[in-house]
Amino acid sequence: MSADRKFFVGGNWKMNGTIESGKKLVETIKSAKLDSNVEVVVAPPALHLLPVQEALKGTQIQVAGQNAYHQVSGAFTGEVSVSQLQDANIPWVIIGHSERRTLFGETDANVAEKTKAALKHDISVILCVGETLEQREKNESINVVVRQLDAVKKEVDDWTKIVIAYEPVWAIGTGKVATPEQAEEVHAAIYDWAVKNLGQGATDKLRVIYGGSVAGKNCKELASKPSILGFLVGGASLKPEFVDIINSKL
Ligand code: PGA
Repeated sequence: MSADRKFFVGGNWKMNGTIESGKKLVETIKSAKLDSNVEVVVAPPALHLLPVQEALKGTQIQVAGQNAYHQVSGAFTGEVSVSQLQDANIPWVIIGHSERRTLFGETDANVAEKTKAALKHDISVILCVGETLEQREKNESINVVVRQLDAVKKEVDDWTKIVIAYEPVWAIGTGKVATPEQAEEVHAAIYDWAVKNLGQGATDKLRVIYGGSVAGKNCKELASKPSILGFLVGGASLKPEFVDIINSKL
């Protein structure tokens, strides 16, 4: 696999923990032997980004914001802007997580705007897409994912700093992991979309990762599938088994 397509493991800590518990988690990860061929990014709550980044100094692990607002500054109470992440040297941001879409009403257009703004400020994006259970049961998974990607494509031409996370909503935090076959089917559709929309060159570099109840016990089988180039991990990223997930290719 080329260096451009390093296996990618993201840990989405969501709204959990304290500064102390975040640092402890970092110590656990730091004391473990990690596969050096894996790109690892953890996304602590916004308030914890800087202390966690400090604790990670000298390691292969980077940090990500869990969200960012597309405007640079202004009267947007409660928001953190892409330029503020850039100012704090935060290299990554998660955009379009299903919890943002469903609980906070982010539309495809919002997600596109945020992705564009993050890239403009030199921040790489973990772009989340995925269908709900109802959409899957209606056989709409691929249509939904394509619609979500099309919206971003309208605003963004260069996808070299985007990792696409396929996260079926029904698998997030439920313990119901997609089967490797279910994940592969959608991943294949995303690569097809990319060939048509981004061009062959871009897809050589594109990484599509899977998220939704990834755990120590299921990561190896998922990671063995050629179209699954990494994971976005929620619950298990707060536990020592995150190390096993990072090392799932070993
Ligand atoms: P989960 O969450 O691993 O707890 O299912 C994944 C995510 O929300 O990114």
